[in-house]
Amino acid sequence: MTLLLIYCVVLGLAIGSFLNVVIYRVPRRLSVVRPRSACPNCAQPIASRDNIPVVSWIALRAKCRNCRAPISPRYPLVELATGVLFALTAWRVGPHVDLIAFLLVDAALLALALIDLEMLVLPRAIVYPSLIAVTAVLIVAATLDDQWHRLFVAALCSMAWFALFFIMNLVSPRSLGFGDVRLSLLLGLALGWLGVGEVVLGFFLSNLIGAVVGVTLIATKRIRRDQPIPYGVFLAIGTIVTVLVGPILLSHWHHWPTT
Ligand SMILES: [Zn+2]
Repeated sequence: MTLLLIYCVVLGLAIGSFLNVVIYRVPRRLSVVRPRSACPNCAQPIASRDNIPVVSWIALRAKCRNCRAPISPRYPLVELATGVLFALTAWRVGPHVDLIAFLLVDAALLALALIDLEMLVLPRAIVYPSLIAVTAVLIVAATLDDQWHRLFVAALCSMAWFALFFIMNLVSPRSLGFGDVRLSLLLGLALGWLGVGEVVLGFFLSNLIGAVVGVTLIATKRIRRDQPIPYGVFLAIGTIVTVLVGPILLSHWHHWPTT
């Protein structure tokens, strides 16, 4: 297990480095493959030795090797966050095939949340490939462990959440964008694989966190009442928290005396 956690931290740091590229380029419709990363100030391509997650940022003392322009701490923070999130997810899900699906969900939600926070969009170019990849991994997991009922429940939850958001979007497109409707397919699938209780909890937590933050920001006049909020951020947080602690919370719930 320790080896798995170490492996997931290292994998997370590397994936986090790629997510930095995704977060900047995908909403601007740029290729994530070419050209290779360059300094935004002097356009000097970043050498491999200066592209080691977290380590290079510290070694360079947060400055470009060529022009000495400061490098945002956002890059190492995204890398660290991905590493920590991957390790926590591995610790919760364990060494099973479906862990790959949940690491994919982590990476997708981290990128989507940061893009939504900055630009108020949830790019299709991230949501659909993630959905396809997660579905493929869960089909493999269902085949290997003969867990077709789990996959069936996950598919139903995915469609149910999608239907609910689709209707909410029809009724009030201003309060719930279609990006959130699309994203709900992925959330319902991932949480549905864990159980129906997790789907309900994830939905509840997302809205609770969103409401608390929204009301706080309006009350402290940080945002206006009619200003759009990045709902995708709260959906991502609610879902990740549910993957990490949902099964623990729900097992306590089941053990509470009901009579
Ligand atoms: Zn530079």
